[in-house]
This record gives sequence, C-alpha cells and structure tokens, in this order.
Amino acid sequence: MKKFEIPEYFKSGFINKIKEKRNLLDPRRKDFSPTRLNFDGVTIYLARHFGFCFGVQNAIEIAYKTIEQNKGGNIYLLSEMIHNPLVNKDLEERGLRFILNSRGEQLIEWGKIKKEDIVIIPAFGASLETVELLKNKGLAVERYETTCPFVEKVWNKAVLLGERGFTVVIHGKANHEETKATFSRAVIKAPSVVVRDIWETKTLAKIILGEIPPQKFYEIFKGKYSEGFDVGKHLSKIGVVNQTTMLAEETQAISALIKSTLELKYGKENLPEHFADTRDTLCYATNDNQNATAKLLESDADFGIVIGGYNSSNTTHLVELLEKKFKIFFISDDSKLLDNGGVLHFDVKTRKEVLTKNFLGKKPVKLAITSGASCPDSVVEKVIFKLLKVLNVDVSRIKFDEIFKTEKEFRQN
Ligand code: SF4
Repeated sequence: MKKFEIPEYFKSGFINKIKEKRNLLDPRRKDFSPTRLNFDGVTIYLARHFGFCFGVQNAIEIAYKTIEQNKGGNIYLLSEMIHNPLVNKDLEERGLRFILNSRGEQLIEWGKIKKEDIVIIPAFGASLETVELLKNKGLAVERYETTCPFVEKVWNKAVLLGERGFTVVIHGKANHEETKATFSRAVIKAPSVVVRDIWETKTLAKIILGEIPPQKFYEIFKGKYSEGFDVGKHLSKIGVVNQTTMLAEETQAISALIKSTLELKYGKENLPEHFADTRDTLCYATNDNQNATAKLLESDADFGIVIGGYNSSNTTHLVELLEKKFKIFFISDDSKLLDNGGVLHFDVKTRKEVLTKNFLGKKPVKLAITSGASCPDSVVEKVIFKLLKVLNVDVSRIKFDEIFKTEKEFRQN
C-alpha cells in the first residue's frame, strides 16, 4: 500500500513496531485477532487494525503540503478534514479555516471566499452543489481535492445503478457530508432515498410489500428522497450503497432485507431484475477495523477503551460494537485519563462527557483498546502509556519483544 507523508507528531514508534510485526506475521491481513501486550499486572488487547486509513492519510498529506506550499495565502477547508479534534486543531493553528462545521452550519460566508483562495475538499467529498458553487467562483477545486477513492467508488456505483434503471438506497446519516455528497450524485441518474438503519429499512420493506400505505413513505422519509420520487414506480428495482463509515454488518443486513423483500414480491427467478448486488462498495478500512474490533469481543478484557473524535461516525460504531460485551470508555485523547484514576468519557446516547472515578480498579487489569480511522497513532500511544503510568507500571523498563504477543503465539506458549 502507498506510503504517505504525514507529520511526525501523528506517528508513534511504539505502535508502528506493533503494526509492522503484525504485518510481517500476517501480510495478507487475514488474522483479525488482537495483539496481546503484557505488562506487569496489566494486559492490553490491542485491535489488529485501527487508526489512520488510506483516505485519511491521503487527505492529511495533501492538506499539509498545501499549507507548506501556500504560505501567506487564504486556505480553507470545506469542512472538518476528518472527524478528529486534534488533527483539525493542528490544521487551524497553521492558519487553515473551516467554512462549515461538522453539522453543516456555515462558519464563513461564501461571499468571503475569493477566486485566488484555496478550498480543500475533505476526504468524505463534497456535494455537487458545493463543488459547482466553488467552481463558479473560479476556484481550482480539483487541485485541492482529497476525496477518498473508496468514497468515489460508491459514487460511481450509485451512478451505474441509476444507468441500469435501479433506485439507489443509501445507508447513511442524511446530514453527514459524505451521504449528502453521494446523494447529490446518485439523484442525477437514479431515484434515491437515504435510510438511517435497519429499522427504517423495515418500514421501507413494509411499504414495498403494501403493508404500509405508500403515501406514508413521503412522511417517514421526508427530506431524504429525491425530487419526483414515485413510490408506485421506484421501489421495484433497488441497489444499496452506504456511507463508508456505517456499520458494515448493518449495511449487509439492510441489503439482505431489501433482497428478501423483493424476492417475496417478485419471485426468486425474477430477483436479478429487481435487486443489484453491491457488496463490492464496502470500504476495506471500515471492514478491517470493524472485524478487528469484533475480535476484541472474544477476549476476556474487563472493559474497553475506544479513542477518537466524538463526532466521528466510524469511531462511534466501534463503541457500539464493543458495548455488546464490555463497559466502554470512549475518550478523545490521553488528557481524559486523570492522574487520580478517573476518566472523562463520552456517552454516545446523551452526547455528553461524564466522569467515572477509579475506572481502572486494581491490578491485575485486562483491557481492550482500539481507535477510529481518524485518530493518530501517537494519541493511542499516549493513552497506553498514561494508563500504564496510572497503574504504576514502570514503562522505562519495558522491552518490546517481551511484552508483545499475537493471540496465536500466546496460545502456543
Ligand atoms: S474510512 Fe474508507 S472510505 Fe472513508 S476515508 Fe477511510 S479509506 Fe476512505
């Protein structure tokens, strides 16, 4: 895989050693079991895959190069580069400014953006309307484009589906930049609708089968379907694509439900005409990170720590996966770990940070750790070392080869 130039302070020698050793032992990336790090009375199960994905590294490389090469100019980011507060703060400190926040609210008026300015398109892309607006101002949009190729793959698939006469169902959050960008492209060729989750898809399936009156579609999916969407015509041929950071297993469940619904309505022999297989659009990083996180569930950890931005969709899904078994502490960085053994962590339901005292308890302690696709490895390293410090482990005496074991090695010993 391509090597990207990203700032040194996002890297970690410690994490890099672990990743390199795992890649050496498992070059085809098929072993999703966690790495076991054994310290004095502390066992850390570290997910096999976590941290910066291809798209994020690509976006970071372009953004930092742009800053370097355009000192003194006005450089804007259309919206948060990636959903990580530390990365975005660092970019802001270097003079970059965000035009929109992650809720799509305007921070800088379009009128203030001039032809000679630079506007960087983030990894999750931009809607066609926004691209058009920037081009009309005379900005060189393509030059500072960091849209991830895996997001573009989804856009291309949506267009192809439309050309083949299929309606596009997008599994995503209607107000997320990536879903807006996908929707804006899909609607050119296809009637399109966004579904948030399997529950909304169950409602859609009932509408397809006539168990819910068709008019209800327009109420339930208000603001999430394309102009001119005709329930009588446009729910008979369907292909599913997703916002790449959604739970892959949920996208698959949504696809399977639509497939079985159309099979029930039109018969198995006619299914290929009514349902398009789109499994190939799932992003490799989302898949790998989620599969590796699922493997953490097989460990005997006492609890889990997930590190990442609180507004990061992919990180939130890792929390949801691990919550099936563990008490999870979702933190943005090591500053949330307090010297007195407490932790300030984010509750995804109330969307507030809460304090839990003495969350580590006494040694021996076993914990599972992972991070989102937009979290720098240096942050993961700091979290691990801070945890060890609070648990009175003398990190200066750690010898890498003595603490590191894959699950396979551990079982063989
Ligand atoms: S999560 Fe996947 S689609 Fe999204 S930026 Fe990373 S590699 Fe690209």
